Amino acid sequence: MAHESILIVGAGQAGMQIAVTLREDGYEGELTIVGEEPHGPYQRPPLSKAYLAGDADVESLELRSPLFYVERKIVVITDEKVESISFGGTASDGSDLGERGVAVTSTGRELHFTGLALAPGSTPRRLPLPGADFGGVLYLRDLADADILRSRWGAAQNVVVVGGGFIGLEVAAGARKAGKTVTVLEAADRLIARAVSAETSEFFRQAHERRGTSVRLGAQLSHFVGDADQVTGVQLADGEVIPADIVLVGIGVIARGELAEQLGLEVINGAIVVDEFARTSDHRVVAAGDAVLLPHPLGGGTQVRLESVQNAVDQSRIAAASLLGKSEPYHAVPWFWSDQADLKLQIAGLSTGYDQTVVRGNPDDEKFSVLYFREGRLIAIDTVNDAPDYMAVRRALGDGQTIDPATAADTSVKLKTLVIDA
Ligand SMILES: Cc1cc2nc3c(=O)[nH]c(=O)nc-3n(C[C@H](O)[C@H](O)[C@H](O)COP(=O)(O)OP(=O)(O)OC[C@H]3O[C@@H](n4cnc5c(N)ncnc54)[C@H](O)[C@@H]3O)c2cc1C
Repeated sequence: MAHESILIVGAGQAGMQIAVTLREDGYEGELTIVGEEPHGPYQRPPLSKAYLAGDADVESLELRSPLFYVERKIVVITDEKVESISFGGTASDGSDLGERGVAVTSTGRELHFTGLALAPGSTPRRLPLPGADFGGVLYLRDLADADILRSRWGAAQNVVVVGGGFIGLEVAAGARKAGKTVTVLEAADRLIARAVSAETSEFFRQAHERRGTSVRLGAQLSHFVGDADQVTGVQLADGEVIPADIVLVGIGVIARGELAEQLGLEVINGAIVVDEFARTSDHRVVAAGDAVLLPHPLGGGTQVRLESVQNAVDQSRIAAASLLGKSEPYHAVPWFWSDQADLKLQIAGLSTGYDQTVVRGNPDDEKFSVLYFREGRLIAIDTVNDAPDYMAVRRALGDGQTIDPATAADTSVKLKTLVIDA
């Protein structure tokens, strides 16, 4: 069915991209994005990087200017949360909705639609410990979180980061650069364990320690010390108290599948299940971005969650195409970056399921790569301060090519010259 009015829930990276692609692909009907934050769509990555350091202002985070949306007749509603959503039934004025759906926002506004895209993103996993509600125990997902963090930043000397993942390590790097005393508490036995190999984890542990951050692996937390206004420390299970003026908790996110559940869509652990066309279990509804569980874009039959700008952008293009009745499968090579002080980590492909790694270059030089293989075939790379290696693998994976693990470590030749047909 050709749509007359499309509603996009979630005014983030994915929501914005779905709207832009719909217009680029010729959709001329009504188009509305609704988001619960007070801002239009903006970039989140700088929140733990340039924005935290005071090197970027709010305007520079905007993904598009307000005029951009006006010119394309994209209505952006901010500060309103979609609280309920359904297809069919009766509207509040008594009219029969037929095949149409209706969303009701926190202000009571009714939004009618013929096509629906869900892009609600994710929310930080909370730490269920005594004192977790003390002032200065913070999370970082949106601009409001970043502003609270910034408001406490200047006066804080002791920063404790709970969780050695990307966001935690970025904040730790920024805090060290600002001259603060920084401790990273990670429950696992290595950093960024979900996303990278032991070699890359160990490099980041040493690199952060070299810069003066104390990294505690296998850390077991007991509770926070302080009061409702101000946390003063983190007590570990063995009784040690680590002084803290700010505790930044970065222990992962939970997909926001609430509305999908209301619609009766398939949801696993909060994540909205989609197919390779970004369609949910009800093909009238598409979904994209951090909130979804999708088939591995490079095949293999597994399902993955991808929390990255690349996925939000590329999957949203597919979702928009599906809303317009086109069937374009999602096969983009996943990629990701993380800036931790002067260390630029870039990842191409997905390393899940690897059975061999090859380290190329010397981690002590702070410029090296780790290539991941499964049954001899290249599946991913992590690079630190080595953009050419990263680009070589990103292209090779996109072209279905590989590299012989036996030759990959040879830094006397450029990696791109080692790429061969699979
Ligand atoms: C601090 C930080 C640093 C990051 N750094 C990087 C990086 O270096 N590289 C990288 O690739 N990725 C990074 N990411 C991840 C990247 O920002 C996300 O993958 C991306 O924003 C996902 O886009 P999305 O549209 O799915 O979700 P979001 O951008 O989170 O947007 C979803 C929006 O939907 C809104 N919403 C949810 N439910 C409702 C509702 N019921 N009604 C109305 N609105 C609703 C939410 O409030 C939110 O504004 C970072 C993320 C954070 C938080």
